Amino acid sequence: MTEKVSFEAAKNRVDELRLQLDRYSHEYYVLDKPTVTDAEYDRLYHELLGLEEQYPELISNDSPTQRVGGTILPGFEKVIHEIPMLSLGNAFNETDLKEFDRRNRKLTDKNIQYICELKIDGLAISLKYEKGRLVQAATRGDGTVGENVTQNVRTIKSVPLRLKEPYSIEVRGECYMPKNSFVKLNQERDEAGKDVFANPRNAAAGGLRNLDPKETAKRNLNTFLYTVADFGEIQAESQSEALNQLDTLGLRTNHERRVFDSIEEVWQYVQDFQEKRADLPYDIDGIVIKVNDFSAQEELGFTVKAPRWAIAYKFPAEEAYTVLHDIEWTV
Ligand code: NAD
Repeated sequence: MTEKVSFEAAKNRVDELRLQLDRYSHEYYVLDKPTVTDAEYDRLYHELLGLEEQYPELISNDSPTQRVGGTILPGFEKVIHEIPMLSLGNAFNETDLKEFDRRNRKLTDKNIQYICELKIDGLAISLKYEKGRLVQAATRGDGTVGENVTQNVRTIKSVPLRLKEPYSIEVRGECYMPKNSFVKLNQERDEAGKDVFANPRNAAAGGLRNLDPKETAKRNLNTFLYTVADFGEIQAESQSEALNQLDTLGLRTNHERRVFDSIEEVWQYVQDFQEKRADLPYDIDGIVIKVNDFSAQEELGFTVKAPRWAIAYKFPAEEAYTVLHDIEWTV
């Protein structure tokens, strides 16, 4: 909870925070070269959120709290997301998760089960299939307009160019670089006298948003799909059923997902993966918790920026990537 400050002081601080957060977002989303940790960004973001809660008259459309992601790079064709690609609300501790659970149970009488999914630390992509064929791949961009990266995504071997059924659907997921590919890439760059990447996410983003698909192909990128945006012929009543269907269609999903009845079990899963994360072959920065049943999701609805029926629990910053100043940034 933010300490109560005067309107004048709040206004000044809000202006300051917005400038700072906009600069960090540009470095992160556009340049793929963050200069602060995600934890630091999240801390400032929540300070802004707190001040805007105290003084709602300070909220403006261009505030980082009202917007998703970054802008699109010149050189890529634009793609309009007919169904917006949103962000997620964040939780940082057990109390935040309990509050999420309390609010859900207040807003719907439906029986609530939660599905926990690993929060893969990469960048969001959207894949469109028509009659079973991959016709378009796009980045999230600002959530409404993304970049057309179809040629680049076609180089990712786990992305089927043709589904097992001739369905017309749109699915979304995370594009990431496996840890071992990241280490190898940085070794090669270091030996070649080039700057190394700060983390696998930056390397994946730079690879996917490269104007030369041959460069993308060298990065050994991979994907986990986690959402159906346009169901087409898919029939599912819950997130777990939808993900099982994606598996059947040949799309790659993450199999660590679990469904639970209570927030206490969710908290246990979160803690388990906080311990196990270092042993996974890919980076995760948290756990995404979603209400599993689609009819309950529908009742809970959306805010301008994120679904109310999901939340991202963020792990504390990982030691290896917090020492940003010791790392040379890559272009
Ligand atoms: P987010 O990272 O908090 O969560 C939303 C994203 O999670 C989705 O867009 C999706 O890409 C991803 N995701 C991974 N697995 C998922 C799953 N199973 N289901 C659903 N989504 C899944 O939100 P964001 O809008 O992508 O990014 C904001 C965050 O980016 C900030 O909280 C901060 O941590 C980081 N950031 C850092 C800087 C910096 O300078 N260090 C700057 C801007 C943003």
